[in-house]
Amino acid sequence: MERPIIAITMGDPAGIGPEIIVKSFRDGGLHAKCQPLVVGDAATIARMAKQLSAPLTVRAIQEVREASFDPQVIEVVDLDNVDADQLEMGKVSAMSGAAAFQSVKKTIELALSEEVDATVTSPINKESINLAGHHYAGHTEIYAEFTGTEKFAMLLVEQNLRVIHVTTHVPLRQACDLVKKDRVLDVIRLLHNACVQFGIEQPRIGVAGLNPHAGDGGLFGTEDEEEISPAVQMAQAEGYVAEGPVPPDTLFAKAVQGYYDGCVAMYHDQGHIPFKMVGFKWNNETKTMESVKGVNITLGLPIIRTSVDHGTAFEIAGQGIASEDALNLAIDYAIPMAQNRKKHDSSYSR
Ligand SMILES: [Zn+2]
Repeated sequence: MERPIIAITMGDPAGIGPEIIVKSFRDGGLHAKCQPLVVGDAATIARMAKQLSAPLTVRAIQEVREASFDPQVIEVVDLDNVDADQLEMGKVSAMSGAAAFQSVKKTIELALSEEVDATVTSPINKESINLAGHHYAGHTEIYAEFTGTEKFAMLLVEQNLRVIHVTTHVPLRQACDLVKKDRVLDVIRLLHNACVQFGIEQPRIGVAGLNPHAGDGGLFGTEDEEEISPAVQMAQAEGYVAEGPVPPDTLFAKAVQGYYDGCVAMYHDQGHIPFKMVGFKWNNETKTMESVKGVNITLGLPIIRTSVDHGTAFEIAGQGIASEDALNLAIDYAIPMAQNRKKHDSSYSR
């Protein structure tokens, strides 16, 4: 199978994005499995390669077709948008926010024009992009807007856990009202299709309830009986192997052991907490997050987007101690998704 072209966004230049990118190119064996390139400020990547003494050269290109995908070279579609004199590592700034935002926007354009097969995003800082005048809750919302997508959902993947979310960045009070049968059914379909792309033939999907004990027969709220249960029945009628509403406090304990291939969470923290319990490891002696594994995938888009699910880690930016594990995992998920898409989508021309 041909190695897909993967565009990696630089992320916020004041965060750990450039560092984990250089480390991934240096140690991740990327070129054996894909044709990687970076979209961002080439000089920033070059400074980081020098700081890490990486035996790699950085080459600025203007167009994807100029890329040679030489394993010794980090090729950067150069936006030339970071002023090194102004850049302060670990600090919020409009300049960094603008650079990070432009990198994401350009990457989306390259995927929409099919110049690249998939996109992988590095962390951005919400405050910085907002200071730069771009008012978004995060990557997911930027991707949705610039691809004109209405039905999308966030999937988090780590080890056995594949958790899709019915709602994400809304107040919890509002999230409860957004649990509606049509939306629940849509995300079951998205989750099923994603699992199939990851090679799980007949995925078993567990749908979490919203309320304690999934409502306990109507004692604690009506959403489980009135919205979630009918959505699961409709999914079953369409041939999906779905069950629920499962009491949310036991669903994830079963999923971690492999009983469910995918889980549907009703709101942000219901899905994020079990995911981070598995992927994140806090070191209580050094008071740092030692491991931040896990991949964030936006489903429902016309293009492929996977991402690390950690932030810019401003507190350690520029120190050379950031782990590139999550970025490597995000790339590893983007590759089969791109290959599957090429295989199945005849309208896809590349
Ligand atoms: Zn979030």
